[in-house]
Amino acid sequence: MREAAAENNSPAECQDVNSTVAGFLRDMAFAQTSQQKMFGYKRASAAVLSLEEPLTALVEDGAVRKIPGVGPASTRIILEVLDTGASDIVEQAVASSPNSADIRRRRTLRSHFLSRAAVLQILSNPDLNGALSIDSYRGDLQMHSEWSDGAPTLEEIANACLERGYAYAAVTDHSHGLKIAGGMSMAEAADQRLAIESLNSAYVDRFRLIRGIEANIAADGRLDLSMDEAAEFELVLAAPHSVLRKPDDQTERLVAAIRHPRVHILAHPRGRIAGSRAGVVADWDVVFTVAADEGVAVEIDGDPARQDLDYTLARRALAAGCVFALDSDAHTTEQLRYTETAVAHARLAGIPSERIVNCWPIERLLQWLAERSSRISSPSARRGTTARSH
Ligand SMILES: [Zn+2]
Repeated sequence: MREAAAENNSPAECQDVNSTVAGFLRDMAFAQTSQQKMFGYKRASAAVLSLEEPLTALVEDGAVRKIPGVGPASTRIILEVLDTGASDIVEQAVASSPNSADIRRRRTLRSHFLSRAAVLQILSNPDLNGALSIDSYRGDLQMHSEWSDGAPTLEEIANACLERGYAYAAVTDHSHGLKIAGGMSMAEAADQRLAIESLNSAYVDRFRLIRGIEANIAADGRLDLSMDEAAEFELVLAAPHSVLRKPDDQTERLVAAIRHPRVHILAHPRGRIAGSRAGVVADWDVVFTVAADEGVAVEIDGDPARQDLDYTLARRALAAGCVFALDSDAHTTEQLRYTETAVAHARLAGIPSERIVNCWPIERLLQWLAERSSRISSPSARRGTTARSH
């Protein structure tokens, strides 16, 4: 896949003015010495990223001066960028800031992130008709409840998902190895299982909550769940949450997790954060080839700060033959809409709904989950687990 050519054709690459403007506001934030001013520019940057319309559409009737969370100093920068495509105000502040090296580093970590306005534009862009439609999306496979670091109860999740028209969703709280995210002990997971089963019997034929877990991939590729512990869940996501700033290659770490016979989805494969960290460095074509071979889905995580995989990497995963999971990674019911960011990347990458596990009917999804888990008894699966299954 020739990335440069593909990127030049991308509507997002050409038109995401809100993302460009938000980047300048963030640079300005990090160039401040006053905490208060820093927070002001950060707030303005976040407000621009979450606008539903491109700034260019707001400029004519003066609405650009009335964006909640954006003060006059930020507005001046916004208007300058809309007018000239750049900002002398920001460049001068960066040049004279003691943080200029860090700001320049952060600038390199903003590629292929979409603003909310760009997401909505991509979802409705008729030029992308034929690509996956949001209407074919049946259920979200990564979210967090009050059982780990999320806010909602299971019932709130079920009701919010039903409101979005989903047939199913997986609740994927963190596993016990990730203490910082309130990871569930196995005793808590057993209690949660009972709660999910009772919820499912109350919602029978309307909605199905899948018992998932987000396992942590250690630096050596092992999961924080034993093989038996992983077997307690219908769906196992594996995701890296540490060693995300190292420039060394970590292909083996991800490959080991993918080859774990109880893993179904490699979630937020890089662990990148917008404007802050690059995440795992790996030979992605190797990672995707192994995932395709193993039938493990690679995730597009729709959290606006993550957007991982983005559409450029997703295109390479598509070419390698991968299946995909498009998930919100929501920690509140409001954040369930983050799925739309993942769908936008999938549309840009040209992924057909057939290759997206969230578009499968529940029977097919459950069958895929069960088949993957049943590989544990096959000899090839056993061979693959010897060094990794603790
Ligand atoms: Zn995670």
